[in-house]
Amino acid sequence: MRVYIAGSGAMGSCFGYKLMKTGDPVVFLDHWAEQIDSLNNGGLRFGREDSADVHHVHANRPEEARGEVDLIILFCKSMQLEETLAGITGILGARTQVLCLLNGLGHVDTLKKYVAERNIFIGVTTLSASLPEAGRVCCHSLGKTEIQSISGDMIRCGNIVAELNYAGIPTHASDDVFKAIWKKACINGTTNAFCTLFDCNIHGLSKVPGIEALVEAVVREFAALAQAQGTKLWPKKISNEILDLYQKSSAVGEHYPSMHQDLRQKRRPTEIDFLNGYVARKSAELGLEAPHCQMITEAIHGLEALYL
Ligand code: NAD
Repeated sequence: MRVYIAGSGAMGSCFGYKLMKTGDPVVFLDHWAEQIDSLNNGGLRFGREDSADVHHVHANRPEEARGEVDLIILFCKSMQLEETLAGITGILGARTQVLCLLNGLGHVDTLKKYVAERNIFIGVTTLSASLPEAGRVCCHSLGKTEIQSISGDMIRCGNIVAELNYAGIPTHASDDVFKAIWKKACINGTTNAFCTLFDCNIHGLSKVPGIEALVEAVVREFAALAQAQGTKLWPKKISNEILDLYQKSSAVGEHYPSMHQDLRQKRRPTEIDFLNGYVARKSAELGLEAPHCQMITEAIHGLEALYL
């Protein structure tokens, strides 16, 4: 399968590396000049600096990409999705499958503007990766990936699932992937947002007075919108699972979530507009109340204004 990865950061490089290792021709697309140069000149390095496995790879700017491709895997950030799709229209053929595994909500509406429904595959992944420097990627956990064809094309979905599993990325086809997408959004819309606002790791949240009520209030707002859009969630159960994470003082508890890393450590914009911001915006359109999501979105944007 000829695969293009649009967005060659942490996740794109990790998925691309694993697919390449099992023989798929992979091309990386990015508009980050330093990354393209590193990949083309020094190869993609996988793992620790002193013992990285190096692979010769091809990387291009999106507008330089040519030809029809079997599969494009999108791995930009949520707020870059529209621009990324607009930049790859030249390689979107009639049969080009597009897989979107970004965190966040509302991506199907954006995908439909550029990609025929029969070619859209949406999913969620708990694989975890980082990019310590241009051209070098680390995979911290293979996690689980689940995907679904939004047009119900089980055969092509099964082919992508098989390809990812063969590459060593544990993946399954789902018939209810939106439940998993919403559940992950609930985790990110509470844990990631609160760690960023309170400037602490996950275990640190267990010391925040009233955190239980805050988490439940936010999850209830996510669940009300999910239900209005056709996905039933159990907010009390999800809140309890989230709060359980905060009690752990081991590896999970020590972790600073990606939003904290993006904003407080790397001074980069967050995906808040596609988490709590999406819930606040869409709830308002439907006449639903989401005051906690609205306030969290504004508070994160306030921090962005101070930090960026
Ligand atoms: P990243 O910032 O490391 O990578 C994003 C890449 O997209 C960058 O290299 C950037 O230059 C590129 N990009 C931006 N605009 C582009 C455009 N218009 N065209 C082409 N490339 C463009 O981000 P990441 O950590 O790889 O995360 C990607 C997505 O996966 C996010 O939605 C994130 O929330 C999600 N996710 C990340 C992890 C993780 O462990 N890193 C785990 C699960 C899900």
